[in-house]
Amino acid sequence: MRVLLIHTGGTLGMAPQGDHASLAPGPSLDLILEQVPELRELADLKLVVAFNQDSSTNEPTDILRLATLVRAESADCEGVVIVHGTDTMAFTSAMLGFLLADLGKPVVLTGSQRPLAYVRSDARSNLVDAVTLATRGVAEVGICFGDQWLRGVAADKVSVHRYQAFASPNLPPLAELGLSIQIHPHAGAFPRRVPPGLGQTFASELSVYAPFPGMAWNLPPDGTRGLLIEAYGAGNLPMGRADLQALLVHCRDHHIPAVITSQCLWGGADLETYDLGRQALDLGALPGGHHTRWAALAKLGLALGAGLSPEDVLQAFRTPWAGEPL
Ligand code: ASP
Repeated sequence: MRVLLIHTGGTLGMAPQGDHASLAPGPSLDLILEQVPELRELADLKLVVAFNQDSSTNEPTDILRLATLVRAESADCEGVVIVHGTDTMAFTSAMLGFLLADLGKPVVLTGSQRPLAYVRSDARSNLVDAVTLATRGVAEVGICFGDQWLRGVAADKVSVHRYQAFASPNLPPLAELGLSIQIHPHAGAFPRRVPPGLGQTFASELSVYAPFPGMAWNLPPDGTRGLLIEAYGAGNLPMGRADLQALLVHCRDHHIPAVITSQCLWGGADLETYDLGRQALDLGALPGGHHTRWAALAKLGLALGAGLSPEDVLQAFRTPWAGEPL
């Protein structure tokens, strides 16, 4: 089995640097692999360094290039592993989940909470698990971390310090890696409905609103192309507020999609449950359902970047593109 192993940076390969011994990007992929030689027993590895940076500095253009790189370099491989920082791994996995939905082979993102060079590190087991999954032929883009493989378009980072740093609250894990490896039947089993032509451009002119009682519902900056409103609970907002009504009307009149999801991790926004949600729909808001923040932003940025019509953007949030829970 041949596996493409791509390095993009993150804690896994970091080392203490400078007077304060803060963690910063360190060894390249070859040096990392010298510390985990057993990976070569699991697969014939093809190594590529895409970039080597803290994932907090990743830009959408980095991820678009990463998707292109995976397509170009994986033709002679059965699976792909991407070493990535944890901070923005959920955004990258959502982007790649959409952009590589039709790749037809496993794409496994992994990283670690502690650098590989540390004794009590989770890096070694995450790498071994990720390469193992990449040889199993399941066509999914997912995050392998702390004994689980999670669908990329459904996952989020939920802990700064636990080795089980990720969860996909609204979808059971694709696989669990304990004494044995259990790959569950829903892994790889979802309709692929990503519109053609995505991935050249990402529209970053997006604004995220995180409501709190008393918040001012200011109009977004000029040039904003899409809004994500992370509403309370099942999708409720203080619809009696004139500034919120004005914001939604402004978005509707200027063809700026205003997507409503829930600020809760478990469950999603159902705008028909409460009258408040219904009022938001009546003013043109789009139902974001169970989309994670990252899946919603990836979908909006890719859809708007590709010039999808307002009707198609609405449809995008009513139709799963790549197995994301609605
Ligand atoms: N700041 C690091 C990164 O995202 C955190 C990590 O990898 O765990 O690159």
